Amino acid sequence: MQESATVRAHAEPARAEVRCRTCNFKVFDGLMLRTTIIRVLPRGAEGKCKRCKAWTPVPVTYSG
Ligand SMILES: [Zn+2]
Repeated sequence: MQESATVRAHAEPARAEVRCRTCNFKVFDGLMLRTTIIRVLPRGAEGKCKRCKAWTPVPVTYSG
């Protein structure tokens, strides 16, 4: 029970689906996709499109 509470605290309820602006490939679907390359920037995060390699802003927040 404690473990799930911890995971929940670190997972922001960002459910927005994000698609690549270039090719419309789904970069992010609201969950932390472990197969998606994500880079953290001072103002947010970006996910790398697996199809065209473009960076697309994703609603991911890291708390540590
Ligand atoms: Zn793309």
